[in-house]
Order: sequence, then structure tokens, then C-alpha cells
Amino acid sequence: MCAVSVPQGQPTPAGTDSMRAAVFEGPDRIVLQERTVPRCGPTDAIVRVTMTTICGTDVHILRGEYPVAPGRIVGHEPVGVIHELGSAVEGYAVGDRVLVGAITPCGSCFYCQHGTGAQCSGHHDHWEMIGGWRLGNSADGVQADYFRVAYAQYNLAKIPDDMSDEQCVLLADIASTGISAAETANVQIGQTVAVFAQGPIGLCATAGARLKGASLIIGIDAIEKRLNLSREMGATEVIDFTQEDPVAAIKRLTGGRGVDVAIEALGKPETFQWCLEATRPGGTVSSLGVYGGKLEIPVEPFIYGIGDKKILSTRARAARSA
Ligand SMILES: [Zn+2]
Ligand SMILES: [Zn+2]
Repeated sequence: MCAVSVPQGQPTPAGTDSMRAAVFEGPDRIVLQERTVPRCGPTDAIVRVTMTTICGTDVHILRGEYPVAPGRIVGHEPVGVIHELGSAVEGYAVGDRVLVGAITPCGSCFYCQHGTGAQCSGHHDHWEMIGGWRLGNSADGVQADYFRVAYAQYNLAKIPDDMSDEQCVLLADIASTGISAAETANVQIGQTVAVFAQGPIGLCATAGARLKGASLIIGIDAIEKRLNLSREMGATEVIDFTQEDPVAAIKRLTGGRGVDVAIEALGKPETFQWCLEATRPGGTVSSLGVYGGKLEIPVEPFIYGIGDKKILSTRARAARSA
């Protein structure tokens, strides 16, 4: 993963109101443009970005696999400093270092009140899929000098002085999403967990399984460096799926049963199927991947609906609960 550090100090000459921003113009085209610094409403904050990073989801956007409107500023993983604060926001001050989650829920709609901030409908009557994800999706994002945080009271988290930007930046989405896969699957102490693909989110899912107390954690990937990192993040076994059939290997490691929980962190139909096949009867598939196309679910590994397997889908937790 590549964290992008923004040069410190005033990014634009004093007195001007323009900033630099990475803008999605269409598939395969993200360009740097001059934009106006966003205005701050009473419940907003304007944050000056000091560090951000590029997510797998941004890659899906770039390829045109996840639709965002042309002209949208991309990016949803910011660390920064409060530049301007709305009059209704309390407990924060201009100059505070803050982390803002990728999901910026309103905190008060039906979905927020029921613990699914990612599905926030804001103050609208209609609901849209993953409506809580505003930055770089339904609103301008953070790969810019400044961005606007909606519902700032609910979405700013102060950063302790002894933590660097780099230590925090993944918490905005990548780490909180990865860890939430283990949380959503309700991994129990002593359980067995397989994590399919050890990219940044998969590695954080592996760490999440470890934090939840799993005893056998199997990291699956094809890149040696990632498999080594997987061990560092908590995997007790690793499988290179180009060297051996991962489902057979998981069965071998679990006494023929399969794992209690399989986490899908790649977003491909093949890995989803492997997750279904590698999970024991009564087990759980926790799916994180953003599937670019159509996902067909094979019925055989499900044993035609009577295998008691559960499929859960997870998106990043809301900012401050991450
Ligand atoms: Zn992301
Ligand atoms: Zn809401």
C-alpha cells in the first residue's frame, strides 16, 4: 500500500481559494485539477489533508467497475488537521489533528441508530446501497488539499500526539474494514479462520482474527512477501494457492472439517467459492471483497441450503466505532 504524504504548510498561495485535487473523469482517467476549497456549513468541518492512501476500491473506481460520477474528487482515507469548523460542532478546535473514517454516517437515521452506519440514509427518505460512504463516492473525497466532512460531530476522531499520521492512516478504512470481517463473523476464542488473499485488507482481517482470539489462522495468497507479512500479522499457517489446492489444504489443517470462519478479502468469484467450500457445516463466510461483476453462488458447497452455512457481508465500520 502506498501512503501519500502531502507537503506541509500552505498548499496554495495565501489569499487564493484553490486547491489541488485528484478527480475521476471517467474509466482509466484520474487527473489532478485545480478546485475551490470547499465551504464549511454549520455541521461540517473542513480538514486539511496531511496524509492519505490509495485503496483497492479506488482501483475499482479507476477501472470503471464501481460507478462514481465523473468530476468526483476521489479518496476516502484521510488524516489531517481541522482547518475550519462549523458553528454547531462542539468538542473540537481548528488545528486539531484528526482521523476521519471512510464512512461518514449521520448518526441519527434509522440505519445509524441500528448499528449499520455504512448504510446511512442521511436525512433523506430514500435509502441507497452503502449510503454512509460519502467521501470519494457520493461527495467529494480526500485526495485533495482540503475536504469537507459532513456530520462532523459524529465523524471526527482526535489523534493522540504520540501517534504519527502513518500509524493512523489505515484506520480510516483498510484496517477497520479488515478487522470488521472478524468482528462481523463473531470469531470466538479458539476458532479456526481462513483469510483468502493477503492484500492490505486481508492482512488486516488476519490481524482481526488474531485479536478476536482465533487459534488457527490460515493466510492464503500467491505472493511470498504477502505470505511472510501474513505470518507477522498473526497467521499460524500460510497457503500458496498456486502450489496447492487451498480448500484441500484447509481441510487437511482442520481434521477434514473446514474452518469455522472463512474471510473473503479479494472480490473474485473463485475466492468466494473457495470460502464456501473451505467452511465447515454451520460455519460462516464473511465477505469483504467488492465484486466487480456478477457473483454467482454455487449451491453444492452449501449442500443445497441445508449445510447451515452463513454468508455475511461487511463494510467498514463507522468512523469512531472503527
Ligand atoms: Zn478504502
Ligand atoms: Zn445515518
